Amino acid sequence: MADLTTTLIHHPYEPPAGFAAPQPGVFKASTVFFPSVDAMRQFDWKDKTAYTYGLHGTPTTYTLEERLCTLEGGRQCLLVPSGLAAIATVSLASLKSGDEVLIPDNAYGPSKALAEVELKAWGITHQYFDPMDTMDLADRITPKTKLVWLEAAGSVTLEFPDLCEQVRVCKAAGVTCALDNTWGAGLAFRPFDLVPGKVPALAVDISIHALTKYPSGGGDVLMGSVVTADEKLHMRLKLCHMRLGLGVGANDAESLLRALPSLFLRYRAHDEATRVLARWAEQRSEFVQVLHPALAASPGHANWRAVCGDHAGGAAGLFSVIFKSDYNQAQVDVFCNALRLFKIGYSWGGPVSLVVPYDLASMRSSWPKHLQPGTLVRFSVGLETVAELQADLEQALRCLVQTQG
Ligand SMILES: *Cc1c(COP(=O)(O)O)cnc(C)c1O
Repeated sequence: MADLTTTLIHHPYEPPAGFAAPQPGVFKASTVFFPSVDAMRQFDWKDKTAYTYGLHGTPTTYTLEERLCTLEGGRQCLLVPSGLAAIATVSLASLKSGDEVLIPDNAYGPSKALAEVELKAWGITHQYFDPMDTMDLADRITPKTKLVWLEAAGSVTLEFPDLCEQVRVCKAAGVTCALDNTWGAGLAFRPFDLVPGKVPALAVDISIHALTKYPSGGGDVLMGSVVTADEKLHMRLKLCHMRLGLGVGANDAESLLRALPSLFLRYRAHDEATRVLARWAEQRSEFVQVLHPALAASPGHANWRAVCGDHAGGAAGLFSVIFKSDYNQAQVDVFCNALRLFKIGYSWGGPVSLVVPYDLASMRSSWPKHLQPGTLVRFSVGLETVAELQADLEQALRCLVQTQG
């Protein structure tokens, strides 16, 4: 008769076999038992036919990976602890000393920082290309170019590039192209089927996604994914991912699995509210430019329309404004501080609306031709009632006007 401690570990209770519930079980493990030494030698984690170690996958992570493949239209998926870790994993797996990576000038900022510091230290060079000029991208590709990053819409300024042409340029040059698909979330367009019905499909090679944003939907989970549609490419990424020791916690994977079924409804609600507020902002005299790809005047609108159509759920939940240059940074700060429902904070995709003023000049190689001068503020629209969000923006603008007195 075993003692209580042992009994509690080797507990006789077994849950009903085949327990079927909407939410899959949450499996936590570092160790996984093998039935025999032979099995230990033979089990191969790489093709997912067996479990060998928690870091290499559990039923929970495999389930999430499968759902993310479905979401993005890919065939293989890796999970990493953040969106930025997804970018880093792709860079490390694809580049070696002497190689060059091309990055759009409006890319997610920390991706540029990775190139400027770590990649540079490892002898990997980078160039920034103009996301709105596909010829500029084409001209910068050389035999050294081993990876091109794409992003649609661009971070903070939300220009929509000619994504199809950019992919065609990369394919023609035989360079791997990786898309940061966080904005599109697998819903605004299909990264592995950019022109629906085209055979062979016009597809990016790699789609990374900050699951931190819309898939999590709560502002409470950090996670990223790397989705591919080519087994060889996936295996290169997977082995690098394994050697780097990247993995995600079961509870975080569970949060994602719980949030994914409502992703489309949330994304569409963010989208609809954001269009209302962006159109309202266009009518306001304080702003010299409103950036949102579904607005006809926003840079790259025609590109957006070509890839995303004009349906609800095709434009995410972000818009930016550029204040007239009569307003200085301090006044714009007053506006941001005066907001009550829009909280000051990074990230997006959760229920709470967020605002961030950006110093765009410090983020770009040069001030983009298609942007008016002035201070830029980006809004992430949450799930609050849109009329109340608009009223909040209006009252904060009144505070701004008072500062001019
Ligand atoms: C937030 C974000 C990331 C990084 O995601 P984290 O999980 O915060 O590291 C990458 N790309 C884009 C476009 C993002 O908005």
